[in-house]
Amino acid sequence: MIDWYPIIKGNCNKCGKCIEMCPIDNMALTNNQLVIIDGMKCPENCNICSKSCPQDAISYYDGTEESILSAFSGNCHCH
Ligand code: SF4
Ligand code: SF4
Repeated sequence: MIDWYPIIKGNCNKCGKCIEMCPIDNMALTNNQLVIIDGMKCPENCNICSKSCPQDAISYYDGTEESILSAFSGNCHCH
């Protein structure tokens, strides 16, 4: 199983650019929320959605704890 899928960060402004660029139509706006339809379908190391994002609002889980921590660093508003 491939451990690779996008993480959408809190600064996404739902502009939809990444949805247009995804080669497998794997992103959608649902209830005004950007969602990955099936993260398991993303080809490993695909970063097209991240590169298309003007907000730098997408990072990737690559199986490591670091990738999760870096995705959420800077988005914590608890202190
Ligand atoms: S391109 Fe970036 S800001 Fe726009 S919807 Fe996608 S993740 Fe959000
Ligand atoms: S990682 Fe690639 S396949 Fe997956 S949602 Fe982003 S652009 Fe689409």
